[in-house]
Amino acid sequence: MNIAFIGLGNMGGPMAANLARAGHQVTGFDLTAPMPEGVSRAASAAEAAQGAEVVITMLPNGAILRTVAAQVIPVMDPGSVLCDCSTVDVESARAVATQAIAAGLGALDAPVSGGVGGATAGTLTFMAGGPADSFAKVEPLFAIMGQKAVHCGEAGAGQAAKICNNMILGVTMIATCEAFALADKLGLDRQKMFDVVSTSSGYSWTMNAYCPAPGVGPKSPADNGYKPGFAAELMLKDLDLSQQAATAADADTPMGQLAADLYRRFVTEEGGRGMDFSAMLPRFSARSRG
Ligand code: NAD
Repeated sequence: MNIAFIGLGNMGGPMAANLARAGHQVTGFDLTAPMPEGVSRAASAAEAAQGAEVVITMLPNGAILRTVAAQVIPVMDPGSVLCDCSTVDVESARAVATQAIAAGLGALDAPVSGGVGGATAGTLTFMAGGPADSFAKVEPLFAIMGQKAVHCGEAGAGQAAKICNNMILGVTMIATCEAFALADKLGLDRQKMFDVVSTSSGYSWTMNAYCPAPGVGPKSPADNGYKPGFAAELMLKDLDLSQQAATAADADTPMGQLAADLYRRFVTEEGGRGMDFSAMLPRFSARSRG
């Protein structure tokens, strides 16, 4: 397939490399990032998109997605598909899909879970929103870049699934970290805490697979000085997107709001920027109740 890939940063770079390695013709464009092996460089997003059957974008946010979409939609061939894999707000995803479909194109919002490790290994999970025929066309590419792709519904449904998942992730990480900090102060050994909770009703992905306590559970960023991993500021971005969506949809999400507030303070005032999102544990450990 002829594929354009726009946004070749930490995630897009390895995803595009996997498509090229699988034998697809991949043309890339990025403002700054180098082209991965096997990807040929275009001079602009529009040049990359010309003649592509699928245009994939992996960009920082919704505003940038809207800008790039305005550049590529007018030059894309009828019937080709614009597939955005970035994490963006639901409104931007829906607006871009509406423009693409009005121009006779297919459109998907297909954000991912799995991080840079999953992008490199080709084991991402894709959650997609948009027409079934667009999903069917891009599904073989999802199978190369990932291990699972779920068609969640109409335009915006992929972003909705992503921010709901990540709202649970942020809330659960905070709950896991504050419970460890409490356990410490109660004199409970961290390994014993892990052994009990990971096999009891408090188990979760943040405890069992990504334990925030160093030296406990499987290897995680905690064992690497809390180097990301998944940076606290990216967690904050996703929590803010969840609260933006909750406001727009009039949904009551008090725990999501509190998690967003705590991560905002952590990132902007408490030195958390650039640290893994599990570094909430030393943050709680250093504090007292008052
Ligand atoms: P990144 O900053 O490494 O990459 C984004 C790339 O977009 C950069 O290389 C930048 O130069 C490029 N770019 C910006 N504006 C552009 C434009 N107008 N035209 C062309 N290229 C442009 O970010 P990332 O970590 O690769 O994340 C990309 C998206 O994936 C984000 O939406 C993020 O929330 C999401 N995501 C990231 C992770 C993660 O662990 N890093 C996990 C899941 C989802």
